[in-house]
Amino acid sequence: GQCVAVCPTAALTEVNNISKVWDALNDDKKIVIVQTAPAVRVALGEEFGMQPGELVTGKIVSALRSLGFNKVFDTDFAADLTIMEEASELVYRIKNGGKLPILTSCCPAWVKFFEHQFPELLDIPSSCKSPHEMFGAIAKTYLADKMKVNPKNIVIVSIMPCVAKKYEAARPELTHEDMKDVDIVITTREFAKMIREAGIDFNSLKDDVFDNPLGESTGASVIFGTTGGVLEAALRTAYEWITHETLESVEFNELRGMDGIKEATIKINDMNINVAVASGLGNARKILEDIKSGKSNYHAIEIMACPGGCIGGGGQPYHHGNLEIVSKRAEGLYKEDRSKNLRKSHENPYIQKLYKEFLGEPYGKKAHELLHTHYFKREKI
Ligand code: SF4
Repeated sequence: GQCVAVCPTAALTEVNNISKVWDALNDDKKIVIVQTAPAVRVALGEEFGMQPGELVTGKIVSALRSLGFNKVFDTDFAADLTIMEEASELVYRIKNGGKLPILTSCCPAWVKFFEHQFPELLDIPSSCKSPHEMFGAIAKTYLADKMKVNPKNIVIVSIMPCVAKKYEAARPELTHEDMKDVDIVITTREFAKMIREAGIDFNSLKDDVFDNPLGESTGASVIFGTTGGVLEAALRTAYEWITHETLESVEFNELRGMDGIKEATIKINDMNINVAVASGLGNARKILEDIKSGKSNYHAIEIMACPGGCIGGGGQPYHHGNLEIVSKRAEGLYKEDRSKNLRKSHENPYIQKLYKEFLGEPYGKKAHELLHTHYFKREKI
């Protein structure tokens, strides 16, 4: 996600993707469904003179409705879904003597990095697709059924903090029945540009709420946007599934903050679960070298390519490597997490309904078909 400053084609891609979204919105035959990532809501305001970390979730929904999207949903819903699958995979591997550590797989820049650099470790990352890809797969099946529309007429637009998500959406394996999970990705900055192009006065927008059912989310999903958040969310769920007890204190402070590598040991029943969080690919490399040489005793590791996680992503308003800005954005996400009644992904009633009505068991057959992927050895670059 960090190529934007040096990539000569970045400007061109921006123009193309914005015009693709306008074309879809102007096509009467298309049902254009938009989702927005957690990190966008604590940074977009900066494009309109607000402070880093200021939450503009409600204004984002209003802006998207004014732009003419047919449905306005939240990638956070799919982040909860990712936790259902990833925590199931972790528990499955722990109980069945599977490969450990499990590595998170929601960052496409990191996925591409290990495919190129560590092909001998391809079987340890989680097989979960990233949240916005899961969202697309569910929208073109479950939601299309509910809306009684032909999924081929649906266009999924993702608003992401990330430049690498554009490449990810084009991966041929992230499709279902010849349909791409996600059709167009635009960045937070491109979204700001669209708002300006449409002449919307962002600052005076009223707050609005996401549509149902793919717009409901828990606090666990909100913190996906910051380093440490995916692992924290997974632990909230895995803890309750393994112990069958309520986790009272849901904040894992050891996993928070801007350090490039963070570690913790979490006691679950009589097991000590060792976890680590790395952000920045240099830190990821250190951790992978340790795994390769057998020095590592971790059970689960979260890796994000951008320092600070997606809030510091290459598609966000420029922060020029200033981690204080990134840290303020993280605070915004933690604040939203604290404000939620439900803070564990498995408690999301719409997620529970999705499994009951459509997917069946977490980590089961249908979930594998739609929500999981595989990785490939790629030439070194
Ligand atoms: Fe994209 Fe987030 Fe990965 Fe950065 S950390 S490359 S923003 S997914």
